[in-house]
Amino acid sequence: MKFHSFLIKYGEIGIKGKNRYIFEDALVRQIRFALKDVDGEFYVHKSYGRVYVDCDGEYDYEETVESLARVFGIVGICPVVRLEDKGFEELKKEVVAYMDEMYPDKNKTFKVEARRSKKSYPLQSMQINCQLGEVILDAFPEMKVDVHHPDIMLNVEVREEIYLYSEIIPGPGGMPVGTNGSAMLLLSGGIDSPVAGYMIAKRGVSLEATYFHAPPYTSERAKEKVVDLARLVSKYSGPIKLNVVNFTDIQLYIYEKCPHEELTIIMRRYMMKIAEHFAKQDGCLGMITGESIGQVASQTMQSLNVTNAVCTLPVYRPLIGFDKRDIVEISEKINTYETSILPFEDCCTIFVAKHPVTKPILEKIEKSELNLAEGIDELVEKAIDTVEVIKVK
Ligand code: ATP
Ligand code: MG
Repeated sequence: MKFHSFLIKYGEIGIKGKNRYIFEDALVRQIRFALKDVDGEFYVHKSYGRVYVDCDGEYDYEETVESLARVFGIVGICPVVRLEDKGFEELKKEVVAYMDEMYPDKNKTFKVEARRSKKSYPLQSMQINCQLGEVILDAFPEMKVDVHHPDIMLNVEVREEIYLYSEIIPGPGGMPVGTNGSAMLLLSGGIDSPVAGYMIAKRGVSLEATYFHAPPYTSERAKEKVVDLARLVSKYSGPIKLNVVNFTDIQLYIYEKCPHEELTIIMRRYMMKIAEHFAKQDGCLGMITGESIGQVASQTMQSLNVTNAVCTLPVYRPLIGFDKRDIVEISEKINTYETSILPFEDCCTIFVAKHPVTKPILEKIEKSELNLAEGIDELVEKAIDTVEVIKVK
C-alpha cells in the first residue's frame, strides 16, 4: 500500500488549553528534526487541530515510521492514503480496494468512522458510514460490523481530499522536547546515564551533557564511546551540547590528599559541582544522573546525600527505584545498550578503592576535603576553562 501522509496522534499535549499551540509547535519542530536525515521530501503541518506529515513523492516508509516513533509527544502514527475527491461512487471503489489490500485475512470486524470537514460534501457523516459499511460487507462477506470493539476502525476524513486510515503505530508518548526547559545530564560511558537522559527528555526537557574523562587513564576511545552515546540519545532528545571535562588533575590531587576509601565520593562531589557550573551558565533548570539506590557504594542513601549536598539545583535521578535489569531493558529498547557495554574504562573504574565507604558522613567528608584547600580551586577553574564542547546531533 502506498501511503501519502501520516496523521500524528498526540495525547497529553492535547489537554494543555491555551498553551496547546506551544506544544503543537514544539511537536512539529521535533518531527521536522527527526525527519531531517530520512530519504524523501516531507511537509509537516498543523491542520484542523491535527498534525500531519505529508510525503509526496518517493520516501523511505520504514525509516520514516522509525524516526517518527522516536519523537516524544507522539502516541500514535497513522499511515494515511490520500485520495482525490472524484465523487462518492469512486470513493466506494477506493475503500473496497483499500480494505482488500490492507487486510488479506478478511475474517475481521470493522466499523467505518467518517468525519466531514468539507461541509459541501453531498453526504453526511452518518450516511457515509452506512453506505461504505454496506459496500465493504458486499465485497467481503466474511467481514462483520462491530460498532463497539471493531478489529478495524476505518477512518474516512472528507476534506478537499479524502483521507483513509485504519492503522495506528504506537509512538513513544511523553511530551515534545523543548516544552519543559533544559537539564544537565552527567553522562558516563555506562548503561544508566543514557537511559536517565532519555527518560527526562521524554518529559519534554532538552538535554545538555557533561562527561568527565581522565586521560591518559581513560582512553580516547572511551570518550568516543560517550560521544556515540550522546548521539544515540540525541535521536530522541534533539541536539545535545556535550561538555568534555578533563578531570585527571583533580582526580590525582584527590588521590594524593584524601583517604582512598573516600576517593569515589569526593570525586563525585567535584563532578557534580563542575557540571552544575555549566548547567547554571547555560540556564539549565536541573541536573540528571543515572543513579539508583544501592547499585554501588557511591549510590547508597548515605552516599547520595553526601553527593547531593554540593548541589543547589535539583538533581533528577529518574532511575532511582529501578533494578539493573529494568534499566538494561530500556537501554536495549532505545538502542544504547550495545554501545554502553563496549569495554573501555570510564574514569570511575580506574581510581576505585578496594573498600570504598558505603555510609559516608557529610562532616567527615567535608573535613577530608579541607586537605584539598590549597590547590583545588585552581584545578577546578582550569578544568572549567579547558572544557571541550562537542555539538552532538
Ligand atoms: P552509568 O552506568 O551511568 O555509568 P554507574 O552505574 O557506572 O552509572 P556511577 O559510576 O556511580 O554509576 O555513576 C553514577 C552516575 O554519575 C552516572 O549515572 C552518571 O550520571 C554520573 N557519572 C559517573 N561517572 C561519570 C563521568 N565520568 N562523567 C559524567 N558523569 C558521570
Ligand atoms: Mg559509570
